[in-house]
Amino acid sequence: MKILIVEDERKTVAYLKRGLEENGFVADVADDGDDGAHLAQTGSYDLIILDVMLPGRDGWSVIGELRRRQIGTPVLFLTARDAVDDRVKGLELGADDYLVKPFAFAELLARVRTILRRGPVRQSQVLSVADLELDLHRHRAVRAGRPVDLTPKEFQLLSLLMRRVGDVLSRTLIAEQVWDISFDSDSNVVEVHMRRLRAKVDEPFNCKLIHTVRGVGYVLEQRT
Ligand code: CA
Repeated sequence: MKILIVEDERKTVAYLKRGLEENGFVADVADDGDDGAHLAQTGSYDLIILDVMLPGRDGWSVIGELRRRQIGTPVLFLTARDAVDDRVKGLELGADDYLVKPFAFAELLARVRTILRRGPVRQSQVLSVADLELDLHRHRAVRAGRPVDLTPKEFQLLSLLMRRVGDVLSRTLIAEQVWDISFDSDSNVVEVHMRRLRAKVDEPFNCKLIHTVRGVGYVLEQRT
């Protein structure tokens, strides 16, 4: 498995490269956006780890170009803490996942493996599970051919569940990723939004896709 690291911070690069190689990956490095975009299009990589802040052109420009050229190599992007908008933007531009700096290598490795396990990426930016479709680019959800009207938060929540289809997501993780808040056990913000989302996405249909895993969190999957 070959991974391209696009990052200009030498310490981060050294840390990533060493860790990936120790785990059996081949890792190439580009230290600016132009080199990154070039290598991504000419090398054959299984995954790209892309930092947002780069000299010259930034990570957005790089992923935007790749996706416009129909290059569907999975992208895990690295973003700064407190940049929720960045994460949304990255996912909309076609990134597969993101990691907030600073991160533990073990977490990066887990994300990398999850992305690689999903296999070749979709060329489009439409996620689909059963008869539910989510168009990340156009911000539209459709179930059984009918549009589902979602608020921006509901959309983010659903896109998180759909990107991690089959994975049980804890309330803590959902709160951090969708609301950028540390989980407060007294807060029921996740439950409230999940209830509204289910009312729109699942209630009118026989086949339920969002399931509660008691004491743990939620999972979106088709159960037959
Ligand atoms: Ca950087």
